[in-house]
Amino acid sequence: MPHVVTDNCVSCRFTDCVTVCPVACFHADDDRVYIDPNVCVDCAACVPACPVHAIAEDFDLEDDQEIWVSINAEKAPTLPVIRAKQTPLPTASDRRMELGF
Ligand code: SF4
Repeated sequence: MPHVVTDNCVSCRFTDCVTVCPVACFHADDDRVYIDPNVCVDCAACVPACPVHAIAEDFDLEDDQEIWVSINAEKAPTLPVIRAKQTPLPTASDRRMELGF
């Protein structure tokens, strides 16, 4: 089962995750990243890389987070692949503190 980026990524987009992914399945828009479930090989390397704990395997998601499975699947193929770390969003530090990490 694929890994999923949840809403913890919103307003952060630290992108440490993309540097450890062996198959380049991360895609990004202006606010966050998404995983293409058709490309993800479930290696789990991205999970500890995220400083705001935004990534989980889909069966580990809380009920109110399951919406992100379909959102990742729908959005990822429509957005460019990112393979290199990018500068976090200007709101990232505040968002990280808000999330408690
Ligand atoms: Fe990439 Fe592995 Fe994370 Fe899937 S679980 S997005 S293959 S790093």
